[in-house]
Amino acid sequence: MLKRYLLAPGPTPVPPEVLLRMAMPIIHHRAPDFVPVFESAKNRLKWLFQTNNDVLILTSSGTGAMTASVDNFLSPGDHVLVVNGGKFGERWTKICKAYGLLAEEIMVPWGRSVKPADVAGALERDPAVKAVFMQAVETSTGVYHDVEAVGAVIKDRKDVLFAVDAISALVAHDLKSDAWGVDLMIGGSQKGLMLPPGLAFLGVSEKAWRMSEGSKAPRFYFNLKKEREALKKNQTNYTPAVSLIIGLEAALEMLEQEGLQAVFARHARLALAMREAVRAMGLETFPEESPSNSVTAIKAPEGTDGQEIYKNLRERYGVTAAGGQDKLKGKVFRIAHLGYAGTFDVITAVSAIEMTLKGLGHDVRLGSGVGAAEEILLEKRTP
Ligand SMILES: *Cc1c(COP(=O)(O)O)cnc(C)c1O
Repeated sequence: MLKRYLLAPGPTPVPPEVLLRMAMPIIHHRAPDFVPVFESAKNRLKWLFQTNNDVLILTSSGTGAMTASVDNFLSPGDHVLVVNGGKFGERWTKICKAYGLLAEEIMVPWGRSVKPADVAGALERDPAVKAVFMQAVETSTGVYHDVEAVGAVIKDRKDVLFAVDAISALVAHDLKSDAWGVDLMIGGSQKGLMLPPGLAFLGVSEKAWRMSEGSKAPRFYFNLKKEREALKKNQTNYTPAVSLIIGLEAALEMLEQEGLQAVFARHARLALAMREAVRAMGLETFPEESPSNSVTAIKAPEGTDGQEIYKNLRERYGVTAAGGQDKLKGKVFRIAHLGYAGTFDVITAVSAIEMTLKGLGHDVRLGSGVGAAEEILLEKRTP
């Protein structure tokens, strides 16, 4: 038997409390017993999203909510900006193009964070721009984009929407939807929310609802106006992933019990411990600035192949991490510390990296990374 550890940036581990709740017999989504569950999940999502706006619950993977953020608010021919600093930025462009939008990309070198002045400049140059699409955490590079600073550039423009794919950032980063002027805030169940894949979340501002009135893009499954009406009655348009919504209530209860700031502090600490361990092992993290709290991208050391490291971690030690995507394939491997993650997830990952590298013939001192992580993570006696 090989004991398995899931340390990938989605899907992430699901806590036993959540698994047990989801094991209950299925209930009918139009029956009265579904209403309190849905209502509780709905209200707790607003707390997590730090918003007074509606947060819609969609049955789809995260990309479904990204798609809905394009086809419900814009029209073919509309000018939009996309911050493209990796694979997920690229996805925004592909979705916009699929709906006939004219997407101008703000290209950000992989490993770097977008400069808010570049967004401001692009908005100045093209007054026809109706939306800016960005990631909070670009999962392919492990970089956090400064949502607050970019939001400040967009906030006062009445006719420009700010859409943030926070699928891998929510729960790990303090994201203030309302205070920072995010019009469309997107989450997914299988990342920070500690659930299996299958739900997407979409916070929608009043400004966005106003803009939706003029949208002429074709749509059917994701009709957000209808979803909003259903939401008021604690319902969804079509059959939702009932079990996942039951699990969502349990997961949000756990986060609420910990407290929002404590949740963010935990993620910041785990990410710091991972980065310190990487340095102590004589390795380098990929981001040149603004590393995320959700996932750490680590450069494969000279003479090793990132894909081989990723494969060895899984096959020899049972640790499922992630490899590099596209041009980073073979050059990096990525470890998540997201959602149901604690001290020994980081220790496990670091230890497995040390043993994997040593096993592959790379010169690494066993225990060097683990020791560095422990220095950050040890609990000092409180007076
Ligand atoms: C995981 C992820 C997505 C969503 O992917 P799905 O497979 O559609 O759930 C989108 N954006 C980012 C930044 C992600 O990390």
